[in-house]
Order: sequence, then structure tokens, then C-alpha cells
Amino acid sequence: MPDGPDHPESWIFHMAMAWLGDANNKMSYPERLALIKERAVGMGEPARSAFLWLPDDTEVHKADISFWIPKPWDNRNGRMSLIGDAAHPMPPYRGQGLNHCICDASYLLAGISEVHGGVKDLATMIKDYEADIIPRGQEEVKCSVENGYMLHDWKKVETSPVFTRGFKPMEGHDAEPEKKGEDISEHARVHRERDTEENITVAAA
Ligand SMILES: Cc1cc2nc3c(=O)[nH]c(=O)nc-3n(C[C@H](O)[C@H](O)[C@H](O)COP(=O)(O)OP(=O)(O)OC[C@H]3O[C@@H](n4cnc5c(N)ncnc54)[C@H](O)[C@@H]3O)c2cc1C
Repeated sequence: MPDGPDHPESWIFHMAMAWLGDANNKMSYPERLALIKERAVGMGEPARSAFLWLPDDTEVHKADISFWIPKPWDNRNGRMSLIGDAAHPMPPYRGQGLNHCICDASYLLAGISEVHGGVKDLATMIKDYEADIIPRGQEEVKCSVENGYMLHDWKKVETSPVFTRGFKPMEGHDAEPEKKGEDISEHARVHRERDTEENITVAAA
């Protein structure tokens, strides 16, 4: 927001569109722009217009999503370690990457304080730090990858809590199991009806 919240005309937006499959590196900016506009036509508002109104000179970059399921690394006899995305790069589909980075930094800082205070030696502290970060990273990367695949499968998205419950506060783990079946949101119902109509039209053509 270069000119502040009262000047939305100066705001800079980062827009992203993602799909599974072909990672064509050779497309030019205008070709990518045409592709995302083509894909935006079937979207709901306001995403549809936000993409379709992109200026013709917009530079559309490609970012492949990659991940690594952490496994023990060579910490040079406890003299170095990894932190953040270097330790557990993951797809952004659960929005947990930075949260884990903060967690890593906080645990590492506490460990360094212990070394500084003579409570632990460096190698032991690094061993303890990695005993937390590696399994925690493994679990989150696997979960984020799984969630990423689910978010790119429309039928699965329709069964997700965002659709079945809407943006309501989540209950705790002890909550009643979700109601199954046709307990879907208005948004999901409209999409299903539209899909059905399109299928009927195609079948009739
Ligand atoms: C689209 C997207 C959405 C996301 N949304 C969320 C979210 O909602 N919630 C969440 O918790 N996380 C989210 N994340 C993840 C989060 O952004 C990352 O987990 C976090 O930024 C990683 O921090 P980092 O410091 O480990 O690495 P980085 O932020 O990648 O920092 C590494 C830095 O090192 C620099 N660097 C690289 N090589 C060298 C070199 N040789 N010499 C010097 N410098 C170098 C890089 O330029 C960079 O500045 C998202 C990520 C993406 C891509």
C-alpha cells in the first residue's frame, strides 16, 4: 500500500493461479496472461474480473511448487543445522510454512540460550533441536502436499469444511463429527447445478 489504506488505486496486488500438470517453461508473459485469462472465464466473482482486468503488459511469472520431506542431514558433528524452508520446504496450501519457521527460530533461540548459559553443549542442543524439527517438518510437508492435491480436485474441495461449514469458527477436536451427505454450502450447490447444466448441454450437443 504505497500511499496508504485510503488510496486503493496505489495498492499492489500479488495474484496467483495454480493448477496441476504441465509446467511449460517456454511461454512468454503475454502467452501466460492469455492462458490465465482463459482459465479465469469460468471462475466466480470477484476472482473472475480480477484476472480478466489484468493489463495487457502484466508480467506473468511461473513458480513451480516444490517440496522436500525432511530427513536427517549432516550437521557436521552438531556444529550446523537447517531452519525454515531450508529444512522443510512445502507447498503453501495449508499456510503453515512461515508458522513453522517461527517455531524453529523460537526453539533454536531457546537452545542457543541454553548453550550460552552452560546448560547444554552445542552438539546436544542441535541434536535436541533436530529431534523436534525433522519429524514436525515431515508431518507438515506431507500434510501440505496432501492438502495441495485435494485443493486441486474440485470434487474434494466441495467436501472440505470451507464448503460444508463455511467460514464459521472451528470447534475443538472433541467436536461432533461433521454431518455427511448433502449438507453442502450454497456456493457448492450453485456450482454443482452449473456443472450438471453444462454436462446436459454437452450431452445434447
Ligand atoms: C504463495 C505462498 C504463500 C504462502 N502463504 C503462507 C501462509 O499463509 N502462512 C505461512 O505460515 N506461510 C506461508 N508461506 C510460506 C512462507 O512464505 C515461507 O515458509 C517462509 O517465507 C520461509 O522463510 P525462510 O526465511 O525459511 O525462507 P525465505 O523466505 O525463502 O528466505 C530465504 C532468503 O534467503 C535468500 N537467499 C537465497 N539464497 C541466498 C544466497 N546464496 N545468499 C544470500 N541470500 C540468499 C533469499 O533471497 C531469501 O530472501 C507461503 C509461501 C508462498 C510461496
